[in-house]
Amino acid sequence: MEKARISISIDDGKKNFLSVADKLIKLNIPATLNIVPGAIDKSKKVEVETFSKEELVDLYKTGIFEIANHSNLHTNLEEDIIEGRRKLVEWLNLDKNAPLGFASPGSEIKIKKALESEKRLREMGVLYLRTHDEGGKEEYKRLDELYNKTKNPEYYVKKESNAFYSKGDFAISSLVAYKGVNDLEEILLLTDHAVKEKKGLTIMFHNFAKPNEELYSNVWTFGSDRFYKFIEYIDNYRQQGKLDILTSKDGLER
Ligand SMILES: [Zn+2]
Repeated sequence: MEKARISISIDDGKKNFLSVADKLIKLNIPATLNIVPGAIDKSKKVEVETFSKEELVDLYKTGIFEIANHSNLHTNLEEDIIEGRRKLVEWLNLDKNAPLGFASPGSEIKIKKALESEKRLREMGVLYLRTHDEGGKEEYKRLDELYNKTKNPEYYVKKESNAFYSKGDFAISSLVAYKGVNDLEEILLLTDHAVKEKKGLTIMFHNFAKPNEELYSNVWTFGSDRFYKFIEYIDNYRQQGKLDILTSKDGLER
């Protein structure tokens, strides 16, 4: 029977992910890690430390994480997308022709453009493209105001309807999880909707930190305490047979 599917998509390959990785491994919760290879081999300077190459290989070897490309230098330039994939293929010892998922840095490539460029992107070894696309700005703003005023979940679900995907899609949009805006309450709300409607849902994360850590105040940080509540929540649905937790690649393919 068709059931809901949820994909956790984590950007930039930051070292702080390692603080929550063990819990994901223990609960067998797959996730997609979108890697900036140039930050790992120090071709690019970054503010928040990334995994080392060895840590990346170890994560890959657990078998539960999909390693996807976030471009060599975190740009959307063709040569950068190609080079990012080339490095990942080499480091992870992948099949030279294996296409990889691509998370568009800054979500600059929107769904429409991705679909228009699908042929070229596939030639560049892109298996699928993940972005964040709010659709019509006006409508998004209107629904956002309505939700904030009424806290009616229906407005929120409608506002974030692009975060739902279907099997076989090439370009997918994801909800960007961050403090105060798309926080635990909202993520659970979308999850409930995905379960009810048997839809696919992608949620994007960046940093993880505990409340006492400096990084916690960063707008891109999701509290690890809240993240654990989220994964326990989806694990519970999974145990009831109502939801599959899949990498983006598997969510689109299986
Ligand atoms: Zn990024």
